[in-house]
Amino acid sequence: MNEAEPKPCRHCGTETTQRASGIPYCSMDCIGARRREKDNEVLECPYPDCDWKQVYDPENGLSRSIAYTNAEEHREEHRSALAAGGDEQ
Ligand SMILES: [Zn+2]
Ligand SMILES: [Zn+2]
Repeated sequence: MNEAEPKPCRHCGTETTQRASGIPYCSMDCIGARRREKDNEVLECPYPDCDWKQVYDPENGLSRSIAYTNAEEHREEHRSALAAGGDEQ
C-alpha cells in the first residue's frame, strides 16, 4: 500500500492523490468523462462488496489481455483469502 504523491488528473490536469486502477483522476466525474471519451470497457469484480475495477481499451489487444490477466489475478486473491480463513468480518 503506497501513499500516492499528487499527480495531474488524467482528464482535467488537477493535481490529485486519488487513483483509479493506478491512473490519477481527481474525481468520479473525471473518470466517467475520460471513460466516455475513450469508450473504454470496464471489468468489474464479481464478488459482492468489492469495488475493484479494471478499465481497458477494447481496441487494444494488449490492454485487454492485461486487464483480463489482472482480473484473473484479483479473483485468485479472493479465492485464496476465502480458502485461508473464511470470512474475516
Ligand atoms: Zn480531474
Ligand atoms: Zn474483488
